Amino acid sequence: MKSFDEYLRLAGDGGHARSGIILGIRMAMLGLREIALDSSDDHHDLIVFVETDRCLPDAVELVTGCRLGNRRLKFQDMGKMAATFVNMAANRSIRVAARETANQRALEMFPDLDKEEALSKAYCAISDDELFNWKPVRVELRMEDLPGYQGPRVPCAKCGESIAFARQITVGQQALCRACAGQSYYLP
Ligand SMILES: [Zn+2]
Repeated sequence: MKSFDEYLRLAGDGGHARSGIILGIRMAMLGLREIALDSSDDHHDLIVFVETDRCLPDAVELVTGCRLGNRRLKFQDMGKMAATFVNMAANRSIRVAARETANQRALEMFPDLDKEEALSKAYCAISDDELFNWKPVRVELRMEDLPGYQGPRVPCAKCGESIAFARQITVGQQALCRACAGQSYYLP
C-alpha cells in the first residue's frame, strides 16, 4: 500500500482530488488495514463490495486494484457511502461506512471555506473514528462470483443470448436470461 499523500497525488490528476475521492481513499486504506492486507500491493486475496457508484469505486480501484474488469470489485447499488473488504485467504471481512456526522463535523472545522474545499481539507485531517463506523461481517461468496471462475455459457431459451457466470434463471424446464425472466432494466 502506498501512503495517503501518494494516493491523493495520483487521484488529483495534477489538481486537487475531490472530497468524495479523498473519503473513498481513506475508507479503502482503513478497510485493507482491518483485514490485514495493507502491507503489500499484492491483493489477490481481496474482493471489495462497494455500495454506491461515483467516487467510491474509483477510489477503491486506485488503492486496491480491484476493478469490475478483474471481478474483484462488486457493485451493490445501495446508495450508501460504504464498502466491504473481503480477505478470502483469511476468511475475514470488514464493512466500513461513512458516519452521518462526518460531513457536519467537516463543515464545522472550516466554516470559512466553501463546502467542497472544507470537506476535502477535513477528510484529510479527521480521524478514522470520526469518519467511519466499521465492523466485521460475513460475506457468502458464490463460486461463480470468484475472480477465476470458469463455467459454461448457457444460451437463453427465449432470446438465444449466451449467459455467463451462472446468471441464468430456471423457469419450468427452461434456462432463461434475467431479462427474459422479467428482471430486465430496459424496455425493448
Ligand atoms: Zn433471454
